[in-house]
Amino acid sequence: MQSKTIVVLGGGVGGLVVANELRRRLSRDHRITIVEKNAQHAFAPSFLWLMTGDRRPEEISRDVQQLVHKGVELLHGEARGIDLAAHRVETSAGSVTYDFLVVALGAELAPDSIPGLAESAQTFYTFDDANKLRIALRDFSRGKIAIVVTSLPFKCPAAPYEGAMLIADLFQKRGLRDKVDLHLFTPEPLPMPVAGPELGNAVRKMVEDRGITFHPLRKLTEVNPAPRTISFEGKESFAYDLLIAVPPHRSPLVVRESGLANQAGWVPVDSATLATKDESVYAIGDITAIPLPGRWKPDVPLMLPKAGVFAHAQALVVARRIADRIAGKAARDKFSGEGYCMLEAGEHLAGFASGQFLAEPSPQIKLRQIGRSWHLGKVLFEKWWLAAPGMKKGTLRLLIELGAKALRVPAIL
Ligand SMILES: Cc1cc2nc3c(=O)[nH]c(=O)nc-3n(C[C@H](O)[C@H](O)[C@H](O)COP(=O)(O)OP(=O)(O)OC[C@H]3O[C@@H](n4cnc5c(N)ncnc54)[C@H](O)[C@@H]3O)c2cc1C
Repeated sequence: MQSKTIVVLGGGVGGLVVANELRRRLSRDHRITIVEKNAQHAFAPSFLWLMTGDRRPEEISRDVQQLVHKGVELLHGEARGIDLAAHRVETSAGSVTYDFLVVALGAELAPDSIPGLAESAQTFYTFDDANKLRIALRDFSRGKIAIVVTSLPFKCPAAPYEGAMLIADLFQKRGLRDKVDLHLFTPEPLPMPVAGPELGNAVRKMVEDRGITFHPLRKLTEVNPAPRTISFEGKESFAYDLLIAVPPHRSPLVVRESGLANQAGWVPVDSATLATKDESVYAIGDITAIPLPGRWKPDVPLMLPKAGVFAHAQALVVARRIADRIAGKAARDKFSGEGYCMLEAGEHLAGFASGQFLAEPSPQIKLRQIGRSWHLGKVLFEKWWLAAPGMKKGTLRLLIELGAKALRVPAIL
């Protein structure tokens, strides 16, 4: 069999899983290279616990190299150009050629795209910012906090709601809850609209039960730092003491310029195979655009949420499909659209939303009663994700699989 080179752009959730799974399936004649611009990887779901002080920075981050299996080459550099015709990627550390390319570059944040936002808002959407926000919250003892989803799409549809509930819990524990007025603004009509009105109303109730005022259909247009106000399209402005934002998201420039992206900058793929329009190139995770069946606004389709659980499942599918193609077999593995999310609610409790996002005629998602087991599941997954390959990882995997079986829920590992 002729030796092949597979290049994976991005060493985040999708990139790590696809490269490690390929290494498990292919003989050492084949080369697997990850191109990643950061030396460190941090587990994004734990940014919320970093913000509340429940985790220290070193507990939720690792050198990327530690998470990469033996035999996967890690090229530390920024991908700057993709030449589809020449099968070549230009990076800040030289150029690499490929037989198969997997684009797993994720979404980046663009706070500068809304006037006043970058200089006024805190966020828990990056590792460093979540750590800064921990200090701002520690020093805050009275006033109005505005948590604002600035625009769609954004990563992890549950995260702003979890963030708001964990902040409410933080002030409750400090005995300051009655002195802190919490407000959550979003352009969405309900929380997590892809999951349908029943689930959205249930999450809205969870938020409101914790004394957080929910403001739907608010599209942020401007932040005015001097009198500390935020303005919304066609709605009244709001005066805040502390502003926490989910900044606008966009795709990395190298993808927008690649010829693979749609007008919005995301990469359309076949929802089952993750194939792009170029037969040697797959795309997975947050960078992709996958419309959902059934749920259409008048002119804009709702898309598969940007979530690690999907990046992970898609990575496994793509690794198996590439391995089959190299072996000259028909590739059969397909992405089913199954996903889940543990929704942190404070007091070490979480809800659990799961289902088939690609189900016809529309996604079928259920929310389970909140409880401690879902929170524990999230903690176990965090430990498994950050464990270096070896015995400990195998034991954690077994625990998660047993727990998921007992609770009759899926586990994507
Ligand atoms: C606060 C928060 C909480 C979350 N909670 C959950 C959760 O509970 N469950 C869940 O399923 N998802 C959650 N997510 C979402 C999840 O983290 C993402 O959906 C997931 O990381 C997407 O994986 P990805 O591989 O597509 O992108 P990423 O994991 O973002 O990886 C992209 C990688 O590409 C690298 N990169 C970017 N551009 C370049 C370039 N030009 N050259 C080289 N490297 C580059 C980046 O450094 C990064 O390492 C959360 C996200 C946040 C922010």
